[in-house]
Amino acid sequence: MSVSINKITVLGSGVMGHGIAQVSTMAGYTVTFRDIEQSFLDKAMEKIKWSLSKMVEKQKLSQADADKIFARITPIVDLKTALKDADLLIEAVPEDMNLKKKVYVEIDSNAEAKTLYASNTSTLPITDMAALTSRPDRFIGLHFFNPPQLMPLVEVIPGAKSNSGMVTMAMDFCKKVGKQPVLCKKDVPGFIVNRVFIPLVHEAVYCMERDGASMTQIDSAVKFRMSFPMGIFELADYTGLDVIHKATAEMHLRDKKVILPHPKIKQLFDEKNLGQKTGRGFYEYKGDKYERVNLTEQEAATYNPTSLLAVAANNAAWLLTNGVCDRAELEKALKLGMGLKKELFATVQEFGVQNVVKALQDLAAKHGQFYQPDPYLVNYRG
Ligand code: NAD
Repeated sequence: MSVSINKITVLGSGVMGHGIAQVSTMAGYTVTFRDIEQSFLDKAMEKIKWSLSKMVEKQKLSQADADKIFARITPIVDLKTALKDADLLIEAVPEDMNLKKKVYVEIDSNAEAKTLYASNTSTLPITDMAALTSRPDRFIGLHFFNPPQLMPLVEVIPGAKSNSGMVTMAMDFCKKVGKQPVLCKKDVPGFIVNRVFIPLVHEAVYCMERDGASMTQIDSAVKFRMSFPMGIFELADYTGLDVIHKATAEMHLRDKKVILPHPKIKQLFDEKNLGQKTGRGFYEYKGDKYERVNLTEQEAATYNPTSLLAVAANNAAWLLTNGVCDRAELEKALKLGMGLKKELFATVQEFGVQNVVKALQDLAAKHGQFYQPDPYLVNYRG
């Protein structure tokens, strides 16, 4: 299947949809933008205009080009009109399977036969969504990261029936919009990055409880000893506890073994302490500007994060054992999606593979199967 993509319809103009629409139009595509209310589309168009004006201010774009880019997006509420002549539909409606089901049935009765379908879901099964449509072979996951204008990674996830032409189309599309795609070969809960990231947030809370460590001790160790761009609690607050709670629930629903949920995440979500955006999550934030938590190398030296590293490595190992991606793609995804400054398995080697496996065995003995070391780690020889 070789297809030429010219016209794209983006469904949903929220956090992700407006960013995806913007990067698509900046790459030269003609974009139709659809939401359920004109006022949502108006707000999203304002955001795109603002973002383009910032690029003009920084001399990354000329005003004339910004105007042309903006003119290539047409906001439309009527679904049938929005889908007219679309080569590719990118769906970015809220992460709720019942809503997605409804939306795909609606799309399917209005889309033209040539339209290929892509979902920006973070956690929902691509195969199940594809099965709701008349074209499961021409359906794919296209998981952009937030914000799509800045984050370089897109996970490309074929469903069980996606044809190989869809994979080629999706990889080419990502490159054309200036992104670096990583192929997630199997439709597994959390795909690649969230499979490593989400359980780690829960583990950090367990570490705090079990080791009597403070948040800044753990975060300092994560940043300075595990080569993360920031602490794990800090990263959770930055991502949003709503995003983490919903991803947890979906991943856990799909497979109980992939995550050991700590109730603190749901508690923060229920309390509406969603992180930086609400002024409080794990940490408290004052003022409008994003403040970094004060993390130091001195504090990092006071906490040994081997069990946290072990949980991250164990989930990464699971992805490799199960043929979800190869090692190079895994490291690329973690670098671009989580900002790791060093390869995860290089950090594992620094800590000593035996120490990491031993930490998992000890945790498994005390806290159960979730921690059982993956064969890839047990047999790891560098
Ligand atoms: P959002 O709530 O910010 O935006 C969703 C938009 O979809 C809203 O404007 C809503 O009005 C609109 N919508 C609802 N029903 C619709 C319909 N029938 N047709 C068209 N539009 C409709 O959500 P979001 O954060 O942009 O998430 C969208 C998708 O992207 C979800 O699947 C989510 O899992 C995924 N995602 C989110 C993030 C993130 O950090 N927010 C990151 C990666 C992927």
